[in-house]
Amino acid sequence: MEKYALLGYRLRHTMSPFIHRRLFDLSGKSPDYRVYDCPADGLSVVIPELMKTNGFNITIPHKEAVIPYLDGTDEHASRYRAVNTVDVKTRVGYNTDVTGFLKSLGQAGCPLRGKVLLAGLGGAGRMMACEAVKAGAELTVALRPESKEKGIDTLASLGIKNAKVIALEKMRPEYDVLLNATPVGMYPKIFDCPFTDEVIAGSKHVFDAIYNPLRTVLSLKASKYGVNHISGMAMLVYQAAAAHEIWYGAKFRDADLSRIIDDCNAEISKDFPVKSNIVLTGFMGSGKSSLGKLIAGEYAFGLTDTDSLIESKYGKISDIFASLGEKAFREKESEIALAVSEYRNSVIAAGGGLPLSSLNVQALKRNGIIVYLDTPFELCYKRIRGDFARPLASDGDRDRLLALYSARKAVYENCADITLDGSLSLPEMLKSIKEKLKNYLS
Ligand code: NAP
Repeated sequence: MEKYALLGYRLRHTMSPFIHRRLFDLSGKSPDYRVYDCPADGLSVVIPELMKTNGFNITIPHKEAVIPYLDGTDEHASRYRAVNTVDVKTRVGYNTDVTGFLKSLGQAGCPLRGKVLLAGLGGAGRMMACEAVKAGAELTVALRPESKEKGIDTLASLGIKNAKVIALEKMRPEYDVLLNATPVGMYPKIFDCPFTDEVIAGSKHVFDAIYNPLRTVLSLKASKYGVNHISGMAMLVYQAAAAHEIWYGAKFRDADLSRIIDDCNAEISKDFPVKSNIVLTGFMGSGKSSLGKLIAGEYAFGLTDTDSLIESKYGKISDIFASLGEKAFREKESEIALAVSEYRNSVIAAGGGLPLSSLNVQALKRNGIIVYLDTPFELCYKRIRGDFARPLASDGDRDRLLALYSARKAVYENCADITLDGSLSLPEMLKSIKEKLKNYLS
């Protein structure tokens, strides 16, 4: 039986077996494709094993470290010092990332011209830097401040003389094309973004090498500002197809590859469920709607309010309470909770009583991070007293509302992934939630 393999380390989130199986299917082959998860100090043992296969791929962190074990490298792999495919017959290492990168840009109508800002100068970044310069672009590389010196040396070693190197936080909105070759925004830290809103809004094309999650915050922001954006999934599929060409001369039709890209996009959401919703819970008047607007703006997310959805479907909440009673309202609320639990990349402001049902909470937790907005009672009371749109607050009975607040507080606390101090100002809350999301996902 033919054998192929992938060599990497900590490969929990790889799509490669799925893609290669699909490509082998198209070629009428059904070889064994295995993943070798191996730390750097295990290469001397694992590479002789891999040399017994028909061919193998290499991913982070071994793309450079594998070179001394090979008899040669192709022009691209030598130039970028990164091998991602080995032809075992010849023991030669290739870089097919370049094929994947250029083809995915071409398919998306993104020219590698004008002012190009590249974030990251690792294996993928070195390749993109070389290709941008080769295509005649005016290249700027943005790196972490502590990596700037190393970046200047890397560019020199690649023979790139005219590129600028800047610290990531120093970028200004003056670039036509943005290329992300860092893991910033990759699962699980999906709320991070390598470029500022200004820089994204000022650009024409954004390429994000990341493919997990399918929609990164960078790509959502590009959509928000009407900027052409390209996800890394097409590059991943095209570079894999190029490996099959090297291994056994396979040729694929674009339509077949597009189908695989679509299937990968569907698969990634199934295989690596990303909690990409932020569900705001808290007592009536805790500030969920105002904060929701701010968070949605920050991440270019959609914004949904479960009470508004109920009203748009069933009419005013006060009327539902008056005509059908609270039990009927809660049933409608559960129906809406279930529907919004399917959303992605959304801020969901949950009605105050919605978390009372553990089934509602369970549904929302599938795709969402539950954030409890812990706002002092007096502040909530000031905002809601006598609000006739809120059936449970319209009589303004302070003692009854305080009892309700105390009873619900425990429910909110129990289901919260993150608790936020609702007495802070809105900008302070936004800052706090961004920090807490980072820690929560680390
Ligand atoms: P790599 O060799 O590890 O390089 C990563 C680069 O990102 C380095 O320059 C690193 O800079 C920088 N970086 C890391 N963390 C950062 C942070 N928090 N803030 C700013 N910069 C940071 O990785 P790679 O192989 O080039 O891959 C980079 C990304 O491209 C990954 O997300 C990978 O999944 C993706 N990729 C996608 C495809 C595809 O087919 N779609 C192919 C290859 C790679 P320092 O020197 O400062 O650490």
